[in-house]
Amino acid sequence: MNADCTDGAHRARKRFGQNFLHDSQIIARIVDAIAPQADDQMVEIGPGQAALTAPLLLRLKQLKVIEIDRDLVARLRQRPPPGGSLEIIEADALSVDFAALAPAGALRVVGNLPYNISTPILFHLLDSLQQIQDMHFMLQREVVERMGASEGSKTYGRLSVMLQARCSVQPLFLVPPTAFVPAPKVESAIVRLTPLATQPAPALIQRLGELTKAGFGRRRKTLSNALQGVAEPDQLQRAGIDPKLRAEAVSVVQWLALANAGPSSP
Ligand code: SAM
Repeated sequence: MNADCTDGAHRARKRFGQNFLHDSQIIARIVDAIAPQADDQMVEIGPGQAALTAPLLLRLKQLKVIEIDRDLVARLRQRPPPGGSLEIIEADALSVDFAALAPAGALRVVGNLPYNISTPILFHLLDSLQQIQDMHFMLQREVVERMGASEGSKTYGRLSVMLQARCSVQPLFLVPPTAFVPAPKVESAIVRLTPLATQPAPALIQRLGELTKAGFGRRRKTLSNALQGVAEPDQLQRAGIDPKLRAEAVSVVQWLALANAGPSSP
C-alpha cells in the first residue's frame, strides 16, 4: 500500500510502512482524540517526521518515541520539536518491553502504525496490558473494522475475539489517503483501545488463543469439526455452544466460556 517517494530530505521507506501524515486538520483531530494531559506517561510508536510528535510534545511534559529508521532517529535528535522533553528509543517496537516503560502503570500508547506489522504490534502490546491505560492508533480501515466486529459479521475473526476479550475497542473516525505522503491505496481509521478493568487470567488467554486459532483457521467448518483435537464436544456443551455453529457465529463471551470449560471430571 506504500510507494517510495521523496518527501523533503527523507525518502519514504516502503519496508518500514512509511506514510507520513501531512493534513494539519486530521493531525489536530487525532491529537484531540488522544487528549494528552501534561503529566501523562505516553509512548509513540513510529514518530517518523514528527507529525504527531510535535503537537503531542506541546501538551506533554515528556514523551517517549520508538523509531526503527535510523535516518529518522538522527533527524529527530538533530531537530527535536519544541515543548516537553523527548526520549528517543531507536528500536523495533516489536522488541520493546512496553511494561518496563511505565512500571507503575498508566502508560498511554499512540501511533500511526506501520501497516505491514500492525497486527503483530497489537498482539505484542496485549502482553503489557496491565501497565497500559489506553491506546490510540491509526490503522487500515479494514483492520479497525476487524478489531471492532461482532459475531455474525464477515469481518469478525480471531483478532476481534482476542482484542475484545481484553479491551474495549472504539473506532473513532476515518482518514482518507490524501492525508498522507505518500498516499496509501486504502482508507485508514483511528481506533481507541481501553483495557477492560477485569482481565482474563493468562492461562485463559492462552487457551482462547488455541481455540480461536483452530476455530477461525477452519472457519467454513462447524465447530465440532474445526475444534477436533482442541476441544471436546462436552466442553462445547458446557459452554452452551451449539457444535453445529461456525466460529464466526460464536460471541466473545461464548469463546471465553469455552476457554473456561476445562476437561470434564472423570
Ligand atoms: N508518525 C508519523 C506520521 O504520522 O507521519 C509516521 C507514521 S509511518 C505510517 C510509520 C512509522 O513507524 C515510520 O516512521 C516508520 O519508520 C516507523 N516504524 C516502522 N516499523 C517500525 C518498528 N518495527 N518499530 C518502530 N517504528 C517503526
